[in-house]
Amino acid sequence: MKKDNTKKTSVMNAPYRKNFLIQKKTRFLITCKFMLQPLHPTILAIESSCDETSASVIRGGKVLNNVIASQAVHHKHGGVVPELASRAHQQNILRVVNEAMASAGIKNSDLNAVAFTRGPGLLGSLLVGVSFAKGMALALGLPLIEINHMEAHVLAHFIDEPHPSFPFLCLTVSGGHTQILVVHDYLDMRVIGETHDDAVGEAFDKAAKMMGLPYPGGPLIDQYAAAGNLKAFSFSPTVMPGLDFSFSGIKTAFLYFLRDRKKENPDFVEQNLHDICASLQHHLVQMLLQKLTLAARQTGIHQVAIAGGVAANSGLRQALQQTAVARGWQIFVPEFQYCTDNAAMIGMAAHFKFLQAKFTGLDAAPVANLVVGA
Ligand code: ADP
Ligand code: MG
Repeated sequence: MKKDNTKKTSVMNAPYRKNFLIQKKTRFLITCKFMLQPLHPTILAIESSCDETSASVIRGGKVLNNVIASQAVHHKHGGVVPELASRAHQQNILRVVNEAMASAGIKNSDLNAVAFTRGPGLLGSLLVGVSFAKGMALALGLPLIEINHMEAHVLAHFIDEPHPSFPFLCLTVSGGHTQILVVHDYLDMRVIGETHDDAVGEAFDKAAKMMGLPYPGGPLIDQYAAAGNLKAFSFSPTVMPGLDFSFSGIKTAFLYFLRDRKKENPDFVEQNLHDICASLQHHLVQMLLQKLTLAARQTGIHQVAIAGGVAANSGLRQALQQTAVARGWQIFVPEFQYCTDNAAMIGMAAHFKFLQAKFTGLDAAPVANLVVGA
């Protein structure tokens, strides 16, 4: 076949061509700017969504520290008091940020970005972290990175080795949330099941309060359960469709259980504390694992991670380990300090966002019910 050597002439008219060249130049400049961003950014991350004021410095994806100031002011109230939480954040934040910068040996001029938790969480608490981050970014001329707290809990798995590979399932269990997510990529995850009412951490804490234990009661139930019989008492199962959860029913059932037993024996709780804690913990853990097993079966994903404060629970860790052996799962459990609220996970999430140049404007406001993927 004869080769067509005729020169191709542009079919673009002049104004269109001019516009095309301007767009090309703009794209080139944006690409250059992005390429000039360091691949090993130093980021200050701030977390203030609930009752922990935390700051962390992360450099090139490596967490340098994780400073956390917990708020003891809530203990005597048996739960987090939002107004007291935001006041305590205001008192703590400067000290916590200064400590994180100093212990990492970082000067303001070393920073490439400031990251903050935008939500979900208590509005007044979030506002303190958001405002502080904005003030710093404005004063230092740095870009801001907003982080979804729930996505950060999942990305805490990339702080230490071994890392899960994509896709993996993550059960995120905390005082405010209970979710099962499919994680497709660092910044691409989807909730496939969640609680319709209370979180499992709340069920732990409220049950502990009913037994007269101080806040937060979750870790105490875990401690007492270690020496108890998990089959001593049983509670009726809560039936929920699909991969969703409900924990309000067990709270009420537990209240009536204690009331009825105390009628027969006023010292019932004191005399049976270990067995009650072990039985309740077993019941809650089974509720979680039943849905997690269903999620693994439905998605065919066998890499399973847990995250959030309740991921510290030894009953959950043990049952997960047993299920993993029985079903051939590979499981991932973060170090304890990265389970409960912490800024290191915010920094880890910010690192991935920085690499994709996902920055936020100074007009970003906190969102109390921010959803995953928003
Ligand atoms: P939130 O983000 O909702 O503030 P966190 O991720 O900080 O929650 O987790 C706090 C929750 O984790 C509390 O409800 C606490 O009781 C629970 N928790 C922490 N450690 C344990 C444990 N060992 N066993 C059960 N629950 C625990
Ligand atoms: Mg949390």
